[in-house]
Amino acid sequence: MKRLRLFSIFFLLLFLFPNGKIFSWGFWAHKKINHMAVFTLPPGMISFYKKNIDYITEHAVDPDRRRNVIPEEGPRHYIDMEHYGDSVPQFWKDAVAKYGEDSLNEYGIVPWHIVKLTYMLTDAFRKKEGLLILHYSADLGHYVADAHVPLHTTENYNGQLSGQTGIHDFWESRLPELYGENYDFFTGKATYIENPQTEAWKIVHESHAALDSVLAFEKSLTDTFPSDQKFTYEQRGTTTKKVYSKEFSEKYNQLLKGMVERRLRLAIQRVGGYWYTAWINAGSPPLDEIEYKEIFQKTWDTTKIQDLLQKRGTLKTKGHID
Ligand SMILES: [Zn+2]
Repeated sequence: MKRLRLFSIFFLLLFLFPNGKIFSWGFWAHKKINHMAVFTLPPGMISFYKKNIDYITEHAVDPDRRRNVIPEEGPRHYIDMEHYGDSVPQFWKDAVAKYGEDSLNEYGIVPWHIVKLTYMLTDAFRKKEGLLILHYSADLGHYVADAHVPLHTTENYNGQLSGQTGIHDFWESRLPELYGENYDFFTGKATYIENPQTEAWKIVHESHAALDSVLAFEKSLTDTFPSDQKFTYEQRGTTTKKVYSKEFSEKYNQLLKGMVERRLRLAIQRVGGYWYTAWINAGSPPLDEIEYKEIFQKTWDTTKIQDLLQKRGTLKTKGHID
């Protein structure tokens, strides 16, 4: 009965917000990023993460699933840089003082949320709480990955303001799904991040700097490409989906000169970097002592984690840094 109600809410929300910002790296890419980030980790961490790699991989998409049911989840995935300009305060408290919390939640908070999650993961390491380490690692991986997507840094997030509607899914889902098999996912070792806050902003600025190319190449290609060959229809299960044709995708991918692969590789290495940094900042606790059995119970679900968080008093209604 409870499950039925949850499903009803889910579909009601989909119905109410069909054009909401429900985008993110496709599920395939998010899972791949978290999965491969495990292999960047140092000896003191890697065995714990390898043992739990299924969890880390599967739960890479939890934050996107939550977006449909938790209102404050949405702004954690993006930041509209046009709104903030160059002089945006990096500290959450300063940003709140300058823009107000409502405004921040409207225009997105991904860099601040990455920092918040880093602190929460550090705390989980300190307390050696296996369940929470995995939960925050999977979540942090998601937000760090999202910050690497140029279209997560603009109010024109789906090309809807420039006559390019659909480009979001094209860049971050269609292209990796078409060409991801040939990507090189081995990125080298995770490195310690001296300042998680500066790094989060660096990622966002890099992504935003790539935005012009993402939009301009699609536009110039559209202008020269036969319009009846730009899209095609593909069968997905029982539904037929309109997608960018393989020919158009191929040309666009060539123009981008490996940008999607590059952003994805950077995301993998930095996800590993953020996990590693949280562990180091927690004093490099030995992870072998952590009990896993509980984590692998099939009965584990989000309700359990919510209960745990509530008990600890760390569940807040707003997605900001304290
Ligand atoms: Zn997302």
